[in-house]
Amino acid sequence: MLPYATQTVDERDERALLDVLASGWLTTGPAVRRFEEAVATRVGARHAVAFSSGTAALHAAAAAAGLGEGDEVVTTPLSFVATANSVLYQGARPVFADVERETLLLDVERTAAAVTSATRALLPVDFTGQPCDIRALRELATSHGLLLIEDAAHSLGATFDGRPVGSLADMTCFSFHPVKHVAAGEGGMVTTDDEQLAARLVRFRNHGISASFRERASRGTWEYDVEAVGFNYRLSDLHSALGASQLARLDASIERRRAIVARYQEGFASLDAVERPTTRPGRESSWHLYTIRLRLDRLGVGRQQVFDALRAENIGVNVHYIPIPRHSLYRQLGYRPEACPVAEAEYERLVTLPLFPAMTDDDVDDVLEAVRKVVTAYGV
Ligand SMILES: *Cc1c(COP(=O)(O)O)cnc(C)c1O
Repeated sequence: MLPYATQTVDERDERALLDVLASGWLTTGPAVRRFEEAVATRVGARHAVAFSSGTAALHAAAAAAGLGEGDEVVTTPLSFVATANSVLYQGARPVFADVERETLLLDVERTAAAVTSATRALLPVDFTGQPCDIRALRELATSHGLLLIEDAAHSLGATFDGRPVGSLADMTCFSFHPVKHVAAGEGGMVTTDDEQLAARLVRFRNHGISASFRERASRGTWEYDVEAVGFNYRLSDLHSALGASQLARLDASIERRRAIVARYQEGFASLDAVERPTTRPGRESSWHLYTIRLRLDRLGVGRQQVFDALRAENIGVNVHYIPIPRHSLYRQLGYRPEACPVAEAEYERLVTLPLFPAMTDDDVDDVLEAVRKVVTAYGV
């Protein structure tokens, strides 16, 4: 089965890990700092703070934003549940504005309509790697005094008007899970230009403690103070070294993803039953995922049958994402999926096709051929 995504590791990654084992630092050592500096440089941000996962990075951003009970954050229903959960962790309430039909990105008008006197932040997601409408969201955030937190788990290496994702929002959260662009095993990062937010992120990562072990050691003291509730969300040197090694190949891996997507876009152009993803002018997607939407009126069957038929062809299709308000946790919290009709309708037609840098042109042809075969067989 051709998976929808998988990591690529090579001898440079192996060497980086062996170097860490020999370095004497397994965690909180120099490899973490090096990885943070590499990400900050890459995305053009003043600060980068590493975390043990993308979810921890989102949680830390929500905490650094000062979110608490009674606060609201406007976000998208079409994402991995970690996006909205990060708001729940702080006792605040995610408010789902709908997505726009063409791009499946957070709809700016609906976002504006969802802002209330309790809103503290906007939390868009760069779905599949295409940056959200960051300019319009920035204007909206500024005019209401809101923080802009970007879930960029899909979009490391993407740009908006030539500016890199990671330098655009007040805080930008990345993930280094193996299916993402940089595979550290587990890992995450928040980038920001704001010194105060960066300091809060660092403190939150380490139990809310005021100074790191190394700072205390260098001052020759055992003393430290716990200033706020924090967690152990530290990233290890092993993960950091693997992440930094992978980051060095980011451009090549995105280039390969773009070449694969170009073949898909061309190959599906003639298929009536397949709606291809669209990218807005001025935005360069990093192509984490390639999602098609089925034109169900051109098919005699539903998405499930197409999904099963593609799996039977050994194509590891997937679906991103089940709208967050559909999950029982969110229903129990009183959310109604119908409140986001665009996400609901589009979800029923979404299929994620395999996309990862190690895919060969033959793999791409296999996917094109399988999709053509299945939608032709089911076509009406
Ligand atoms: C992967 C992902 C996350 C969570 O990242 P982890 O590193 O797996 O914790 C959050 N948001 C989105 C949109 C993601 O795709």
